[in-house]
Amino acid sequence: MSKNNKNNPYQNAMSQLTKTAKILKLDKAVLVKLQHPQRILKAKLTVKMDNGQTKKFDAYRVQYNNARGPFKGGIRYHKQVSMDEVKALSFWMTIKTAVVNIPMGGGKGGIIIDPHTLSQTELERLSRAYMKAFYKYLGPSQDVPAPDVYTTSQIMDWMADEYAKLTGKKQPGVITGKSIAAGGSLGRDTATADGGFYVLKAIANKLKLKPKQTRIIIQGFGNAGANFAQLAYKAGFKIVGLSDSKNAIYDPAGKGFNYNLVKSIKAKGDAVTVCKINDLKCQKLYHTTNEKLLEKDCDVLVLAALENQVTEKNAKRIKAKVIIELANGPVTPLADKILAEKNLVVAPDVLANAGGVTVSYFEWLQNIKKQKWSKAKVKSKLKPIMDKAFIQVWQTAKKYKTDLRTAAFILAVERLAKAMKK
Ligand code: NAD
Repeated sequence: MSKNNKNNPYQNAMSQLTKTAKILKLDKAVLVKLQHPQRILKAKLTVKMDNGQTKKFDAYRVQYNNARGPFKGGIRYHKQVSMDEVKALSFWMTIKTAVVNIPMGGGKGGIIIDPHTLSQTELERLSRAYMKAFYKYLGPSQDVPAPDVYTTSQIMDWMADEYAKLTGKKQPGVITGKSIAAGGSLGRDTATADGGFYVLKAIANKLKLKPKQTRIIIQGFGNAGANFAQLAYKAGFKIVGLSDSKNAIYDPAGKGFNYNLVKSIKAKGDAVTVCKINDLKCQKLYHTTNEKLLEKDCDVLVLAALENQVTEKNAKRIKAKVIIELANGPVTPLADKILAEKNLVVAPDVLANAGGVTVSYFEWLQNIKKQKWSKAKVKSKLKPIMDKAFIQVWQTAKKYKTDLRTAAFILAVERLAKAMKK
């Protein structure tokens, strides 16, 4: 790990921990434990390609901390996966499960691969190879993976099936984010957006922002961002900016996009195509770049794409009053300082996107108890958990006169320290 890389996610995660430890005057032994993952697993996966040749892929699983329950966290397939990224994400999972107070710990996994370059059969062999490499360390009461960027319910199903073959026992609770037919939970697809939306409503309530007068920009239009856009639109918020990896659109008039447009962007997944289809409506819309979109005038900026989007370079130019982090690590610690000086409220990832892991926990519970919950039941159980976590984080911020991220870390580290001492 380079010493001075300001955007190294693991260094960022550790600087957040150090800041929290100082405020709490944390026991040295607890701090040292929290500065290191409990176990790091690495493998070179050998996969047979469709052309008969074999290729090797680097794969990781980091089991950060299980003081509060089994390790829990997704598996990412991306060409930029690195050990430091997986370590950071597994640490944030440890904090996140503690913030929403579910009996789970933190872990994360990844493979260095651009999955779009593989056929379905190659993807299946790669996913089964990942399970073969690590299955001895996984299990419903040990470590429970889930999907993350570019991993799907189909991939989770293959992994659950491989685990059953290797252990000789069907145990759907080994992995979450499965298809409904393979034991997945209803409501998991929208859970991250649902949780983030409860946080938006709670903040709007505290800051007295009325939906009709609140302009929202959303970066990233995948599972988290697109579902959030729909919820916000239906509740009357004005969605004035949207982007995906290739395009960004912004409505400078501040009236907000119409529902059909938002819906069709979700279906097409490409903002420019949608603008062409909706030609008349889109004449009003101005195309912009992903970078500029973040700096446009709005009240709430929702970051639902990748890490390191708001840094010390652009933080000064952010005009929003509130940032909701649906992505993991989209605001760097240096940017956090600048945003705090501007009195901007940041709803941190470890709170704002925790709806996803909470419903993953519900899926695990249903599998263990051999139950099937309705979507309504899942939603009715998620809301009080998110509302309670928000209030606790808000009150902790008031008590320590600090920002919401530091408050969330304080709350989580206190819970972790208590569990670790036991
Ligand atoms: P996804 O793969 O469904 O969608 C990602 C979206 O981001 C796509 O629309 C893509 O086009 C867009 N994107 C990529 N690079 C971009 C860029 N530079 N600018 C603008 N848009 C860009 O992924 P997702 O599941 O929605 O996850 C998004 C983020 O939320 C990730 O950081 C993920 O770790 C985090 N997250 C997701 C969940 C979940 O349940 N889906 C839970 C917790 C956290």
